[in-house]
Amino acid sequence: KQARLPWIKTLEQFDFSFQPSIDHKIVRELAGLGFVERSENVVLLGPPGVGKTHLAVALAVKAAEAGHRVLFMTLDRLVSTLMRARQENRLDRQLQQLTYPKVLVLDEMGYLPMTREEASLFFRLINRRYERASTLLTSNKSFMDWGEIFGDQVIATAILDRLLHHSTTLNIKGESYRLKDKRRAGLVT
Ligand code: ADP
Ligand code: MG
Repeated sequence: KQARLPWIKTLEQFDFSFQPSIDHKIVRELAGLGFVERSENVVLLGPPGVGKTHLAVALAVKAAEAGHRVLFMTLDRLVSTLMRARQENRLDRQLQQLTYPKVLVLDEMGYLPMTREEASLFFRLINRRYERASTLLTSNKSFMDWGEIFGDQVIATAILDRLLHHSTTLNIKGESYRLKDKRRAGLVT
């Protein structure tokens, strides 16, 4: 299977004691994959390094092991894929292809703002997948700031409406795992 995961991470490798803001019970519930059966979404929010991508990949790995078709993409990559498809007059086919995976991980929303055209293509994908398949989204921006990412509050609201209707949000508040050893060594404060 071509899941295109950036690397394999598992839930077993995740140190929950390092990130006490994460409700372990919610993650255990998600690991049972009921959300995939019900085509529900998962949104992982938090600052850099708190384990958003790790958890999203770990859930995708679980889903792949259970036989579901899984696809991983950064949001940046998704947007350029959709824009290219539109230019080449095959947007519909591309949207169809991206609706097919039962689990789609969209990583790193919010680092780059979108144009209105890009946001509307993203909306079309979310709308297609709505109640059909699960989308796992990671972002360093809180929902309040999504209007800024999409450059348009109306599109942001429409996207949030579809995305959050059946969903679980994990709001991770904590320290970067990447910096923990450096901090311990006194390299950063
Ligand atoms: P984010 O996507 O939130 O920026 P990542 O998921 O990429 O963060 O995590 C950064 C690195 O730290 C990765 O190598 C990840 O596996 C590791 N990591 C983060 N949080 C934990 C944790 N609680 N336990 C074990 N490894 C972690
Ligand atoms: Mg990440």
